[in-house]
Amino acid sequence: MATIIDGKRISSEIRESLRKEVELLKSQGMQPGLAVVIVGEDPASQTYVRNKAKACEDIGIYSEKYELDASITQHQLLEKIDELNSDSRIHGILVQLPLPKGIDEQAVIERISAEKDVDGFHILNAGKLLVGQKGFVPCTPAGVIEMIRRTGVSMAGKHVVVIGRSNIVGKPVSILALQENATVTICHSKTNNLHEMVKMADIVIAAVGRPQMITGDMIKDGAIVIDVGINRVDGKLVGDVNYKEAEEKASFITPVPGGVGPMTITMLLQNTVEACKRTNNI
Ligand code: NDP
Repeated sequence: MATIIDGKRISSEIRESLRKEVELLKSQGMQPGLAVVIVGEDPASQTYVRNKAKACEDIGIYSEKYELDASITQHQLLEKIDELNSDSRIHGILVQLPLPKGIDEQAVIERISAEKDVDGFHILNAGKLLVGQKGFVPCTPAGVIEMIRRTGVSMAGKHVVVIGRSNIVGKPVSILALQENATVTICHSKTNNLHEMVKMADIVIAAVGRPQMITGDMIKDGAIVIDVGINRVDGKLVGDVNYKEAEEKASFITPVPGGVGPMTITMLLQNTVEACKRTNNI
């Protein structure tokens, strides 16, 4: 039976140490600040934004929330970003995705100053990640790597199989695993022999968005299984992994909910604190 990698517990440990760091920064006259911008009324996005703002408050980060009407023009949104780029109280800017149709997401992301891009989606930060320079790493992939680290199992030389190749999860987590000296295979919707690929993995990272598609018979005995997927089925949240089957085979496994999800917000807080420190040359 697998050991659960408890994202909530790890998150609260990290948040506790961030809280102390924020206190120290505040005592020196520096308070990290995050601006969260949401456009339109997508209920899931609103929940995410609320959770992010609350998590900031909990550890003493200053936060501002901008709820903009779905009818806003791209030009107006870019003006808002410009304003936040030059606001010295704000060290991190997050634009909740997806944006309404008609707004060019990439143009909006590129407008955020790379130094305030705490989501790590700006092309400069993506490039820095690829070449191994210090930038901002996207939050979910950073959280995944932190969870694997905390198992105490080194990734060096291990075969990591990532299922999914999105710019926000699959690709960056693959690069991070490579930096940890893993041997990395990236699978996607055109992969022919997914079953065989996953079966070879010492570490499986599922980031697909298809409920329970990774079944127990695909998991090698003793593998570490990280489930990034968040899918709503009959009103309940389930991952991309069939948890009940996989926990019989895995050595470590993340639950959904309570696994990668809480880590994503924690990494956002960490990036915001880091952005404040970099601005102040700490
Ligand atoms: P995307 O839809 O952008 O990417 C999904 C990837 O899965 C694509 O690369 C796609 O391949 C691949 N894929 C789709 N179907 C198959 C298949 N049958 N076999 C193999 N690969 C397949 O999703 P995201 O990366 O944004 O998110 C993935 C999941 O993670 C979602 O459930 C999302 O909700 C969740 N998520 C969770 C977060 C958290 O905080 N826990 C944060 C972000 C996302 P192709 O490229 O060929 O289309």
